[in-house]
Amino acid sequence: MSPKPFAAIEKVECEFLSAAGVELNVLRLDNFAPALSGNKAFKLKYNIKFALSKGYKKIISFGGAYSNHIHALALAGCQQQFETVGMIRGDEFETLNPTLQDAVDAGMKLQFLTRSEYRNKNDGVFLQSLQAKYPDAFIVPEGGSNLLGVQGCAEIVDHVVHHFGDDYDVIALPCGTAATLAGVSLSPALRNNKRVLGFSVLKNSSYLDEEVRNYHQQLGVSSPANWQIEYGFHCGGYAKVNQALAEFVDRFQAYSGIEIEPVYTGKMFYGLYQLLKQLSNNKTNHSSPIKSGCRIVAIHTGGLQGMRGMTTRMDRLNSHLLAG
Ligand SMILES: *Cc1c(COP(=O)(O)O)cnc(C)c1O
Repeated sequence: MSPKPFAAIEKVECEFLSAAGVELNVLRLDNFAPALSGNKAFKLKYNIKFALSKGYKKIISFGGAYSNHIHALALAGCQQQFETVGMIRGDEFETLNPTLQDAVDAGMKLQFLTRSEYRNKNDGVFLQSLQAKYPDAFIVPEGGSNLLGVQGCAEIVDHVVHHFGDDYDVIALPCGTAATLAGVSLSPALRNNKRVLGFSVLKNSSYLDEEVRNYHQQLGVSSPANWQIEYGFHCGGYAKVNQALAEFVDRFQAYSGIEIEPVYTGKMFYGLYQLLKQLSNNKTNHSSPIKSGCRIVAIHTGGLQGMRGMTTRMDRLNSHLLAG
């Protein structure tokens, strides 16, 4: 059997980390299946397998105009030869943005929904009528966040174990729907006292705790006590960027050489560094799994394609850095 390919690991070196006495490693899912953008490849894997094994010809899903999931689905359809339909939130743009242009180039059909129509995306009646219109299509929810998606994400831990065995303490990752965290925390490869630490990128999102437990319950397992989500690092809300975040992303990229974006991975690393700062200021946070001497593996969940909608905003926020 040919060896299973694994995502690369990269260690971040900086004085701040050594002073805090922690090791930070980044699992580069962004480069693992680059066309499919990080965690979305894992979320789609079993959705696609299931759809094709049941004889569906098409996969339909939902997302915003810069959606990493829509982008990944379109490219997967092109690579694996199934049809794709993207239900996109917002008006049809006169010129497609780079994300949607890539999707169309990969063969995806787009259908635009108004914001109020889009709110029905999980509504039973709406989904029934969509299924009636596309009887040969398998419908995947926004973000690929369903039980098949959760099961695929459990495999992310295999990549960590490939590099570290049991010799790590914490897996850190950003959370949108927290389906990725639900999968990672369930993995049988996550042994002993390993902890999973999520960073929510959404404002007022403490409902995610319940979502994670729901996923676990629907999979018929009791939710393990190995995970927790930090809610204090959304920086204003989904896709919002404040000055502190913009500067952090800029600096982190400069010394680590690892490209990140401010919507997901930027907020995870920002939150992680804030927790480390508290640690080095001896502000003991008893609930935090980030302790002196710990070895952290942060999951780079990808998402760089979506940056193409944000560079102007980021440059504006960081313009004073260049001037100074
Ligand atoms: C979708 C996405 C996430 C969030 O994944 P969830 O399973 O919804 O929590 C994190 N990072 C990136 C880059 C994403 O595209």
